[in-house]
Amino acid sequence: MSTKISVIPGDGIGPEIMNATLRVLDALDAGLEYEMVEAGLIALEKEGELIPESTLESIGRNRVVLKGPLTTPVGKGFRSINVTLRKQFDLYANVRPVISMAGTRSHFEDIDIITVRENTQGAYLAADAKISEDGETAESKMVVTRDGCDRITHYAFELARREGRKKVTIVHKANILKTVSGMFLDIAREVAKEYPEIETEEMIVDACCMKLVMNPWQFDVIVTTNLFGDIISDLCAGLVGGLGLAPGANIGKDAAMFEAVHGSAPDIAGQKIANPCALMLGAAQMLSHLGMEDKARKLRSAIRETLAQGDRTTPDVGGSGTTQSMTDAIIDRLG
Ligand code: NAD
Repeated sequence: MSTKISVIPGDGIGPEIMNATLRVLDALDAGLEYEMVEAGLIALEKEGELIPESTLESIGRNRVVLKGPLTTPVGKGFRSINVTLRKQFDLYANVRPVISMAGTRSHFEDIDIITVRENTQGAYLAADAKISEDGETAESKMVVTRDGCDRITHYAFELARREGRKKVTIVHKANILKTVSGMFLDIAREVAKEYPEIETEEMIVDACCMKLVMNPWQFDVIVTTNLFGDIISDLCAGLVGGLGLAPGANIGKDAAMFEAVHGSAPDIAGQKIANPCALMLGAAQMLSHLGMEDKARKLRSAIRETLAQGDRTTPDVGGSGTTQSMTDAIIDRLG
């Protein structure tokens, strides 16, 4: 029996890399049925809404979404579509793994770090955001809850335990943001006590960024709040050769959404040179989530080999190929 998933191709390079990713999933014979739905600029133009009701219904029904990057128009009063989807389906854990792969333009080797970012609270919810009538003052509240801090840190430690990871680094700014970051740190410390076999370390976010660049090998799993997690995970993507290689899973109790960390890359949209690997690695996370670990492993290894050989790869990783040629090279290795 096939499993139906919702698929949002997205904006900019989204449709190009989604097409490539669905080809790979078909080649893997993953038994998936795709319900194609829209969101983002395309949906706004066609249906007058960034996230049409039919898209929300599809996600609510299928509970698994593969999503291309979406463009939220800036400065027109639109709330980020990604933030809205994460909030609507309570996708509280954003899991962003990065791993070194030969054949990329990375400055580092042997990196293997997972950032677990709280996805539904904090600065990105922009609670009570407003600009004063005279236009001189802008404000927005940062809110976290005890339950929100508790479940994200439990998620990170459970993931570390499940994957046999050695260390969790709790990243915060409790020295300055004493209430919000302070509550996160206090709760994370309590949760850590339940996992005595896992080493726990605490780090202030600015120092963490410096240490990630100076000595990234000291990191294993990082758990942090929404804004810090967004920035740190892009930094980690840079450690392994850029955004074209970094996937992200958004996990909730009742639904999950899989994507690339990068955006819609309007600067290269339509040029057919977008690297499809980040979304494909997101699809691999989805296959694991659906219990198809063998297919997930096969896909990751085909991507790794293609990059290592520099076989028909895209320009961002030093090749002169296209999205399509790189996808062909990956499919050739799926055997
Ligand atoms: P971006 O990630 O789209 O692009 C940053 C740089 O990385 C660009 O030079 C781009 O060409 C390059 N790049 C990104 N993905 C690539 C790929 N697969 N292959 C090769 N090169 C790639 O970031 P941006 O330009 O700041 O944002 C563009 C739009 O994307 C904005 O509207 C933003 O809101 C949106 N965005 C969406 C998501 C998402 O849907 N998850 C995430 C981030 C940004």
